[in-house]
Amino acid sequence: MKRRDLLGLVGTGAGWLALSGSARAGSATGGVAAQRVVIIGGAWAGLSAARELRLRAPELDVLVIDREPTLRSLPLSNPWLVGRTPERLPRLDRTALANKLGYRFIADDVQRIDRAERRVHTAQGVFDYDWLLVATGLSYDYSAWYGTDYKAAQVMQELFPAGYVANELDVLKQRLQAFKGGNLVINVPAPPSRCPPAPYERAMLIAWWIKTEGIKGKVTVLDAGGGLPRFTRLFADRYHGLIDFHPYTVIRSVDPLTRRVTTDDGDVPFDHAMLSPPMRASMLIEQAGLCSLGTQGKLAPWGAVDPLRLHSLADERVFLAGDLLGPVSPLFGHYPKTAHMATRLGVSAGRQIAVRSRFGSDESLVDLPASVCHVWLDADPAEQLRIETTYRLRGDGVIAQSVSQHDNPQPRDEDLQWGLGLYAQALGASLER
Ligand SMILES: Cc1cc2nc3c(=O)[nH]c(=O)nc-3n(C[C@H](O)[C@H](O)[C@H](O)COP(=O)(O)OP(=O)(O)OC[C@H]3O[C@@H](n4cnc5c(N)ncnc54)[C@H](O)[C@@H]3O)c2cc1C
Repeated sequence: MKRRDLLGLVGTGAGWLALSGSARAGSATGGVAAQRVVIIGGAWAGLSAARELRLRAPELDVLVIDREPTLRSLPLSNPWLVGRTPERLPRLDRTALANKLGYRFIADDVQRIDRAERRVHTAQGVFDYDWLLVATGLSYDYSAWYGTDYKAAQVMQELFPAGYVANELDVLKQRLQAFKGGNLVINVPAPPSRCPPAPYERAMLIAWWIKTEGIKGKVTVLDAGGGLPRFTRLFADRYHGLIDFHPYTVIRSVDPLTRRVTTDDGDVPFDHAMLSPPMRASMLIEQAGLCSLGTQGKLAPWGAVDPLRLHSLADERVFLAGDLLGPVSPLFGHYPKTAHMATRLGVSAGRQIAVRSRFGSDESLVDLPASVCHVWLDADPAEQLRIETTYRLRGDGVIAQSVSQHDNPQPRDEDLQWGLGLYAQALGASLER
């Protein structure tokens, strides 16, 4: 059998594993040390890649590093935030999952990547790699509001967290519960941003909560763009008087002490706020020289990859997956920054590493992702919208995107089943709920 035939078996499970065990020179069974894969970021993208590597290339030594010992789900967190449901998806103990699936996990903060030496420097030590996957998601770019005044940014984040990163969820909920009335301001940051429907869903669920709790207040939504019509129509009809929508309103700065948002159209005072500055990939990729080129030759704060194979444009030993990716197509720019997408990209990156660690490069191995999002339009009775995004490769090699929306007026936990399905299929965490 030729090498090309072996590669064709990727994705066919047992057949692939049986054939490739003897195909890799230098495997653990051949008496040579196993190649090391380090995955930085153990969430949707990173854990999916780790599981895929265990399935496809069991001879590799796989280490996942994440700051947090527990995975907390941002997907499906909005109904939990307003007390409409219990936390929809269980928290996952990363060490227990790693032990179950047969890779290693350490809770540690990665501070530097040395690509020349193929080393990752953490708060606790140094880890060598043969292959690196960076799946560190995104972070807030408070410099857009505060320049280099890091103290101001810290005060803002502590007092009024935006809730787009998982470790803010508990404090986000506590702050919301303390809201006793007045103006609660949330914003829709300029794209690219994490889970584009999430702020609209949050606005509708908080409006429902304010009404249900009998609180005298409203939600003001400051949208850097024009809004998504499906949601803005609901704001105007069903949530009239509860949601005050301001399209094309870019936030210039926020004073958390006087509680005032400054926009080009004037100041907006608030009693409580959930405000996100522009988003960017985590700082690590900038340090590691993995960013894409933006306009006028400046670096853009997103990871630059070969869109079909997910290796860094700067280094074929380094892969990137998940929300930190930069543009992948001239037709639509970034993939939607969703957990579903992150799992599919993680699986693809894992596959690429499995094949390359055995055979070197394989240009023919290409997976295109997909994404599904369940958005709550109302809380009681529940009403949801399902947004599906699929991709195809055009004849000229450019990735094309199709988006469709499906009303779900009487949901029966489809969102929960979707989330549990991702946990099981992508992360390998089978759970009864
Ligand atoms: C309110 C809300 C609702 C959402 N709903 C949905 C939904 O319904 N469906 C959906 O598909 N998506 C949804 N999303 C989007 C989804 O949460 C993200 O797209 C997803 O989390 C991206 O996964 P990731 O693995 O790329 O990054 P992340 O989830 O951000 O994970 C990155 C990981 O890297 C770790 N890390 C970062 N830097 C370091 C470092 N230096 N050292 C060590 N560890 C590090 C972090 O601790 C983190 O665990 C929602 C998001 C929000 C905010």
